[in-house]
Formats: sequence, C-alpha cells, structure tokens
Amino acid sequence: MTQAQREPSRIPPEGNNSDKPIAALPGIGDKREEQLANLGIRTIRDLVYHIPRDYADRRELSAIADLVEGATATIEAEVVSARSRHLRRGFALTEATLRDTTGSVRAVWFGRAYLARTFKPGSRGLFTGLVDQYRGLVMKNPDYEFLTGDEEDRINTGRIVPIYRLTEGVTQRMLRQWITQALSNGAIELDDALPEPIRLERGFPPVDEAIRNIHFPPDPETAHHARTRFAYEELLAVQAAVLSDRAGAGHDTSGLAHQTDGPLLKRFHQSLPFTLTEGQREAIEAILADMATARPMMRLLQGDVGCGKTVVALHAIAAAADGGYQTALMAPTEILAEQHGLTLRRLVAPLGLQVEVLTGSTPDAKAVRERIASGETHVVAGTHALIQDAARFHRLGLAIIDEQHRFGVMQRGALRDKGPMPDVLHMTATPIPRTLAITVYGGMDLSIIDELPPGRLPIKTRRISASKVEDLYRYLHRQAAAGLQTYYVCPLVEESESRDLTAVTTHFEELSHGPLAGLRTGLLHGRMASRDKEAVMEQFAAGGIDVLFSTTVIEVGIDCPNATTMVIEDAGQFGLTQLHQLRGRVGRGSEQSYCFLLGKPKTREGVERLRILCEKSSGFDIAEEDLRMRGPGEFQGVRQAGLSELRVADLVHDVRLLDGARRDAQQLLLDDPSLTWPANKALARATARFRVLNA
Ligand code: ADP
Ligand code: MG
Repeated sequence: MTQAQREPSRIPPEGNNSDKPIAALPGIGDKREEQLANLGIRTIRDLVYHIPRDYADRRELSAIADLVEGATATIEAEVVSARSRHLRRGFALTEATLRDTTGSVRAVWFGRAYLARTFKPGSRGLFTGLVDQYRGLVMKNPDYEFLTGDEEDRINTGRIVPIYRLTEGVTQRMLRQWITQALSNGAIELDDALPEPIRLERGFPPVDEAIRNIHFPPDPETAHHARTRFAYEELLAVQAAVLSDRAGAGHDTSGLAHQTDGPLLKRFHQSLPFTLTEGQREAIEAILADMATARPMMRLLQGDVGCGKTVVALHAIAAAADGGYQTALMAPTEILAEQHGLTLRRLVAPLGLQVEVLTGSTPDAKAVRERIASGETHVVAGTHALIQDAARFHRLGLAIIDEQHRFGVMQRGALRDKGPMPDVLHMTATPIPRTLAITVYGGMDLSIIDELPPGRLPIKTRRISASKVEDLYRYLHRQAAAGLQTYYVCPLVEESESRDLTAVTTHFEELSHGPLAGLRTGLLHGRMASRDKEAVMEQFAAGGIDVLFSTTVIEVGIDCPNATTMVIEDAGQFGLTQLHQLRGRVGRGSEQSYCFLLGKPKTREGVERLRILCEKSSGFDIAEEDLRMRGPGEFQGVRQAGLSELRVADLVHDVRLLDGARRDAQQLLLDDPSLTWPANKALARATARFRVLNA
C-alpha cells in the first residue's frame, strides 16, 4: 500500500472548526488565500501553527534622545523626510530623518532605493536597529514597521512581538492581525496532539494556552516553555510515525526462524584469528537473537569505517547457512562487491560454502545466476545486478545491504522481495548522528559499534601547504622503502576546462615521471573497465603498487592494512563525511597512519571542514559536526521522511526532548498500536505528516 493511500485513513474524519479553510477569517479573500498557501497555510489550524521564527522585544521603546552608540534599540518615530542617493558602482543609499518628542535621528539603509518612496513624510512607525556614529548618531539598516494609529497598533508594539516567516504580499502585521483574530476568545478549538497524561507528566501547558503564549508571550521564558511544548509534540508525532510501522511487529511471525547454534556458525566463530570487540559481540548477539525468532529482522548496523562490520555480517551468514539458507550481500559499487567476494572466499568458503560474485560485468553471469537459482551457491556478493529480474534465489534467507544509504528504499525492498521473507541487515559506515538515526531510521532496530579493534593507532591528519609538498613526496619515497603503501586521491578523472581541480590521470602521469619516479605507481578510476580495476586492486592488495592514484572510487570498502598513507588533493572540495570515509582507508593495521590534505579550500566552510577533520577522529563526532554545519536537511533521508517540515523541533539541539518523546511513543503504541483511542486521535493526525522510511 502506498503512503498516499494510507494517509487519509489516519486522519480522523470528524474535524472541528480549526479545519475550516483560512478564507473563513474576515479579510481573507482569494488572493490572500493563494499567498498564504505559499507558506503552507490552508486551514485556520495551519495559521495558528505558523510558529514565530523569532521575536522582537518591544516592551520598552527608547526615546531618540536616549539613544547611545553601539546598542540595538527600538524607537517609535515619525518620518520627517526620506531620500535615496546613488553611490559609486550602482549602490544606492537611502536616508530618512526620524523624530519623536525628544529629538531626531537619521536612519540609513544600503542598497534599497525603493525605501525612499515607502517612507512618506508624516507616516509613523517602529524602527529597530543598531545605533552607530556617522556624522552624528544613525540607525543602521533598521527593521521598520508602519503604525496606522488604530487599534491594531497595539498588537505590534509595546510587547514582545512575533516575527514570522513571510511570503510575497503577506506582511508581519497581517499575520499578527489574522492570528490574533483566530485566537480571540472562542474563535477556534484546537485538539491537543499531546495526550493529556503525557502532557501533565511533562508539565506542559494545554494547547490553547501554549499557542497563545508562543505567538504573544508575556515574557521570553513563557515563549520558551511554549516552544518546548510544540517541539516535543512534533517529536512525539515523528516517533509515533516511525515506531507505529513496527508496533505490531512484535507479534509478526511471518519471517524465518533461523538456527543460531549450528555447526557452521560455531566453526566460523572459532576460526577467527582475533578477539571480537565488545561492540562487535553485542551486535552479533542482537542479530542472532533477531534471526532466531520468526519476527522479520530489520536491523541497521552502524559503525565507523574499519570497526569490523563485515566480521559481524559473516556470523549472520554462517547462521543462515546452518539452516540451509542463502545470503545475498549487496554493495553499491563493483569494487566493493568484488572486495566482499574476496573476503567471503577467504573466510567462509573454508566452511564448505559456495561463494559467488554477481555484478553488471560478471563475464559468465548466466551461469552464476543459474547456480544461485539452483541453490548450489550459498553466498553471493553483488551489486544492483542482484535485484534485477533475472536474478532468482533458491532459498534466500538473509539479505545484507552494505552502505545502505547509497541505495534507495525501493532497491532495498527489492532485495528483500527476492526471498519469502528474508531477514534484512542494513550496514552503514556513515555514522549518522544518533538523533537522526532514531528519527529517519527509527523503525529499524539499531546496533552501533562505537570502537575500533584494539591496537589501531588514531590516524594523524595534517594539512600540507604548497610549499611543503616536496617534503611529502620524499616522505612517500621513505614509506615505499619501508614497504608501506599510499593512496593518492584526486577529485576528477580527466582535466576539465571548467574546473581547476586536479585530475587523477594527469597527476598520475606527472608524478610517476617526476617527483615519484622510481616508485611503483598505479591508477584506478571509475571509467576503467571492471577487469582492469580488479587487476589494479589485486596488485595493490598484494603489495605490488607503492602509490595508488585514484578517484573516490576507493571511498568505500577497500581494506588493505598495509596502506598507511592517504593523500587527498583539493581536499577542501570534498564533504566532511566523504573525507572521513576516504581517510578510513588507512589506519587499518598496526602501523601509524597519516592523512595529508592538500590544496587551499575556496570557501570558509572548506577551511572549517579540514580543521574538523584534523581535530576529530571519531566518525560520530564528525557526523555531529556535519549536522551542525549543514543542518539536518542535507542528511540522507531527512527530506524523504518529511522531517524538513519540522516547524519547531530542532534535530540538532533537541536531543533530550527526542529521547523522551521516543520513550513516550513506545509506551503509547504498546497500549494503542494504531493510535485509535479517542485520546490519541489528534496525535494520530499529527503523525500522518511524517512518512516512514524503513520499508
Ligand atoms: P568495516 O566493514 O566496518 O569497515 P571491516 O570489517 O572491513 O570493517 O574490518 C576492518 C579490518 O579489521 C579487517 O581487516 C578485519 O579483518 C579487521 N578486524 C575486524 N574485527 C577485528 C577485531 N575484533 N580485532 C582485530 N581486527 C579486526
Ligand atoms: Mg565494510
């Protein structure tokens, strides 16, 4: 069933007067209705839920005579005159003289010539701005609002005034006026989306009181309290949405109950040459527990690059095989699929399991597919080729999706549909901040490995200026002499005219014949034929290449413990998470590894990203920084899930609220899994705004 079909049924049919279209308010005609729709405001409820983005504290107005340089102040004044002048290079300067009973002051705006026409002499308004000294006191670029001298002025001044997000044709004054009307006594009834017991327990005000306070607060604290309430309400709705999909799943027995104490698993476990980390052990335990029950597994395994997720996945594969089930391991790139193939051949083939690789460029694909369909193959690593129609499984019992964020919801679902109801394990090395993980992927069970295997030294990361690059080349020679290998990543495959970025092919040629002459160099990029790519990877893995020039195709999955140096050209060009992923290709052995960042970032954000990368080594810390810098909207899945529509809650800062909301949502759904109790109906409606991504 699609979301479109499901949503309406979640909305309780009997609305109340807050469901009335906005045109029911006096003064709102067709034109206004259209304009308000741009703000997502269609009903009266939408209007009052148009929460202020900020406030202006106009409880105290300053007299012009009392203005002092350096302070931000609000004055109520009359326009004496206004004019606009053109400065050099097309800039305009608008100047107005303002006065009140105590004196006069100039206001200046840069580049807004139309203002001179707007400020009619004799008109009165409120002006808020920074007071500066420039041939006398001036107010610089003040915000302004005209006063009409009627009743309405009292909404707009002498109090803490809401500031709204606007759209063409709609002013602050209009919104304040309409919202005041909508909130005037008895005008609307709002259902409280917070079920009363939760509301009381958390000490939040009821919805009508809170909505008044958020628009027209008597003081900043009250505004804050009301805002917290609405943020909480939103987070509860989000959590109810992501969790409700699985609320009934506790009793769902449509999946497979795997054998989890079989001989293959035991033998595999005992064959490991190292001790598992605590995080790995916990993840394996959780996965096997999922697999043992007939409740379909839907688990996300999150862990930084190199933390050893693959080993965890191999346990699940061995368990599936114990019961005679096949496993499909899907990866986003051919290189990664091949790499998984190698690992599987090395570690699970000795158990007597048949391993295959299936990608778009597998030469004898037909024969491979036949072996998969007949059940001869036990484990297959592959790319999208695994979900094409031609690929059929004999008895698919486990689907593992590596780097799951690289696949769409449909593709992930398609792999699951290759079996009757296989257990699904998603893996990602992109540590999503926890707040996002439990919202965007909240319906999945989550295992986090937050430590690296022991003995790994943190990678040292440094920026290298152009003047020091010769030292770097000498260093690469010394590394090669010591038998250690280097990745050299460049942003583009071929030199392009339009962008001044270092191309990997030219760089490979130039350095191989220049400063790196004498070293064994290799070249790897996405436009090479698969067979050539494979050959290069194998040569590198076997130690036959000292410096491997590559594009970001090596970003995911490549595992070569003997590579200890990562050089990234034009590093400022890459995103934070991508840089972290690239860096994660080294630091996999016991030698000290280094990451060198070349190039001068063109933007301030670029500089900031490199600074963060030099300072932080944990992928989770880096993800948090990324979230802080870019906001949640840039994260994978956030928009799809409808989370960019959050009106009040802030996924970066409202962490504690989120935790509480999740617990409350869990409790609620335990009692009322489909939120059909009358007390939960308003919440059910709020929940319908958010979509569920875990399918
Ligand atoms: P991920 O897939 O999480 O990036 P891998 O599974 O590729 O990480 O593991 C990285 C490397 O660490 C591999 O060479 C693996 O054999 C090794 N490894 C995994 N777990 C451990 C452990 N507990 N102790 C030592 N080495 C480990
Ligand atoms: Mg991996």
